[in-house]
Amino acid sequence: MTLRFGTVSNNILDAIGDTPLLHLDGIYAKIEFLNPSGSIKTHIAKYMIERAEREGLLKPGDTIVEATSGNTGNALSMVAAVKGYRMLVVMPEGLSSERVAISRAFGAEVLFCGNFHVNEALARAKQLGEQPGYFCPSQFESEWNVEENREILGPEILAQLPAGCVPDALVLGVGTGGTLIGVGQAFRAVNPQVRLFAMEPSESCTILCGEIASHTIEGISDGFVPGIFQRHASLVNEVLSVSSVDAVTEMKRLARRHGLFCGPSSGAHMLAAQRIRAKFPELKTVVTVFCDEGEKYLHEYFMLPANMARPASASSWFQMPWLYVIASPQYAMAKPGSSCCAWRNALAASGYSNRCNNKVPRRNAVCAAGECVEVGNEMLPRPAMVCMGAVSCAGVPMDRPAHSIPKISTTR
Ligand code: PMP
Repeated sequence: MTLRFGTVSNNILDAIGDTPLLHLDGIYAKIEFLNPSGSIKTHIAKYMIERAEREGLLKPGDTIVEATSGNTGNALSMVAAVKGYRMLVVMPEGLSSERVAISRAFGAEVLFCGNFHVNEALARAKQLGEQPGYFCPSQFESEWNVEENREILGPEILAQLPAGCVPDALVLGVGTGGTLIGVGQAFRAVNPQVRLFAMEPSESCTILCGEIASHTIEGISDGFVPGIFQRHASLVNEVLSVSSVDAVTEMKRLARRHGLFCGPSSGAHMLAAQRIRAKFPELKTVVTVFCDEGEKYLHEYFMLPANMARPASASSWFQMPWLYVIASPQYAMAKPGSSCCAWRNALAASGYSNRCNNKVPRRNAVCAAGECVEVGNEMLPRPAMVCMGAVSCAGVPMDRPAHSIPKISTTR
């Protein structure tokens, strides 16, 4: 019998890697969410920490500090727990609450810095990392991140492809860019013609046009073009985008159709890979990665029964009988017609997570009637809707006056 874990180990870090490569709907998908701590990031976490130990940058009793949108924080927290280091995760608010909880479960301290994008957390982690007794791996900058993907993950995928089959394309979202660049380098070594496609959310096309906005493909497009991507941009053939709504819809389909419970970036990766296959039929072997597990998004997408799933478009919210209403005098004080940012700040002050896109009215409806303001975009993780009277929005009448809608939930 050939077993993946044929011998007994005393260390969970031995279970990193050797995940399946599946061929689904014409795409090769590396199932990295099966790694310990639930994401691809376990690879670089272990690699960077052991490298720092070897180079004398990290010593017993030290604290590891890192900026993250969550998965690297989870992975480093797990590695720190196993190796006995203190861990300080610096991350923005407004990301899935499970990622915060998972880091804490591994014994890490979580320091919130900024909202949704990682820029402020990055600056803070860098600053803390310069203090004596602290080590910051700097995942967005470090060539060790690229190296791990080139030396370990890339060759692992190559070894799993059918005999005689070389990759024609690699399609991946850009968080740090480490996976795309490192795995891409490994692929180029066996097929110099392999095409590398970077993907970003269509709401936040930072690489393509400098746009920084909110989206729901957590783990990519963190608010800046990372140093790794800047240094290696010439390796990338094309940048494409996938919308948040499409990514989440595809994420749900992957669970129902293929039994793969993964996060939104996996949905976006699958869609992007399929679009590349359709656009370039000559690219036969298209590879992507499913990066993190769906369990990290339970509260955002999976706590409602399917027949109460949130509608895909913002305006159809107003037709739902189960509207979430935040009934608080504080919100009622906000001026009708005020910008979505005012609403966002009011909500944030009360501890509600929201992802208001600053660009009014691109994705945020401010009702002409001035009686109802919706905060955030269609894919709000936690419904954040403020109703102050019977209104119609975008021509869609509510099925009953807002003031009679029961206060079903004020999710936090
Ligand atoms: N998807 C998810 C869920 C992630 O957490 C990350 C890493 N932040 C990525 C995709 C992108 O990986 P990379 O950082 O290597 O670009």
